Amino acid sequence: MNYISTRGQTAPKTFSEVLLMGLAPDGGLMLPEHYPQVNGIMLSNWRNLSYKNLAFEIVSLFAPDIPAEDLHDIVSRTYTADTFGTAEITPVRTLKDGIKIQALSNGPTLAFKDMAMQFLGNMFEYVLNKEGKQLNILGATSGDTGSAAEYALRGKKGINVFMLSPEGKMSDFQRAQMFSLQDDNIVNIAVQGMFDDCQDIVKAVQNDADFKQRYHIGTVNSINWGRIVAQVVYYFAGYFRATDNNHQRVSFCVPSGNFGNICAGHIAKQMGLPIDRLIVATNENDVLDQFFRSGEYRPRTTAQTFVTSSPSMDISKASNFERFIFDLSGRNADTVRRLWQQVGNGTGFNLSEKLPEIRETYGFYSGKSTHTDRLDTIRAVYQSDGELIDPHTADGIKVARALRREGETIICLETALAAKFNNTITEAVGKVAIPRPDKLRGLEQLPQKVQIVPNDVETVKIIIRNKLDYN
Ligand SMILES: *Cc1c(COP(=O)(O)O)cnc(C)c1O
Repeated sequence: MNYISTRGQTAPKTFSEVLLMGLAPDGGLMLPEHYPQVNGIMLSNWRNLSYKNLAFEIVSLFAPDIPAEDLHDIVSRTYTADTFGTAEITPVRTLKDGIKIQALSNGPTLAFKDMAMQFLGNMFEYVLNKEGKQLNILGATSGDTGSAAEYALRGKKGINVFMLSPEGKMSDFQRAQMFSLQDDNIVNIAVQGMFDDCQDIVKAVQNDADFKQRYHIGTVNSINWGRIVAQVVYYFAGYFRATDNNHQRVSFCVPSGNFGNICAGHIAKQMGLPIDRLIVATNENDVLDQFFRSGEYRPRTTAQTFVTSSPSMDISKASNFERFIFDLSGRNADTVRRLWQQVGNGTGFNLSEKLPEIRETYGFYSGKSTHTDRLDTIRAVYQSDGELIDPHTADGIKVARALRREGETIICLETALAAKFNNTITEAVGKVAIPRPDKLRGLEQLPQKVQIVPNDVETVKIIIRNKLDYN
């Protein structure tokens, strides 16, 4: 199986090649030439597999160039009860009102990004080692993505991580999580500026082609194909836990930002997993909800993006959305190029004539949640079920409750734990004890390692050079 670009102007690549890629050279996103198909026999055989064995079966369909034995080893080291808290890895529970929640956030950073990042860290190390290469990840984070990347790549051979964050803008918990890592290959850089300044520095370094090549600079953002493929696995796992046989159908409701998580659900459905609806839940930054209700995609600028109490969904453009539009257009790269030209010049596009197909063939629906909805939902679930859910998961539950049909099984994906968002939880339910996993007790008291720098590209380049030239 080879991988092609949504813009159609990149030579086909193997799985190992796309794994280390960001955007395709033509500006598109990489996708498999076709989606592998599953049938009833495969589903029956997979129903009772352990998570790691399920991951092996699914990933191997997409990665024929990775020898089976090696892939087995990688998934076995990745999906352990030690890293993800339970032997089931992503257990499914049911709220009093019948809505199901699939736990994806019991990894090291308490957010679903660990599910894919932990896999990617091991895959990166494997591929780099095999090819005798090194990779230096340069990233900017406002909290979640950076910590998931650091926990996935800490101590990995052939990889260094340089992570920029805005000084003083993250929560105490997020700061402690990242800066307490003492691994030699993790370099935390706090920039005296905002998150956008950090992103600008990353772009400036990326645009210096000589520097980028000389120091093997790469990224791990949400468009990485390895992350998407790892996420496909938990849609299968959730389906098996929520059903007794393969004639039943379920719907998934997914708190969404960059469309990476639900894009994996779309792929699982295209592979033949009996998914009924894929429900996109957004916060006040509702470009996706607008699209799935009206067919109009009107991305916004950073300045038009709201800062909300579900911050990991605060996006103005959904970077993985192009993958879905590629499929929706009948995999027509010319159409995608034309539409993204309109995205580039700020007008966006209107596909309202496709709405029936988007709903009936692809199963996509959407809804939106606001700060008030989020607090109300956190409070309601606390009262009815005695458990605290995080603000992003609350957005999903709010939308699932609003859209649920008679007899429909909806699985809401739990994208983070309440322990990461004390302030919003307290605002919703008052001062209560917010459970925190044992491993993270006393986190804020650990010694921290970080360099504070002015908002300046050269200073960051010097840090990278010093680290790589003299190591
Ligand atoms: C990243 C993130 C999301 C959004 O996921 P996408 O793949 O960008 O749609 C939702 N919730 C939390 C907690 C996240 O960290």
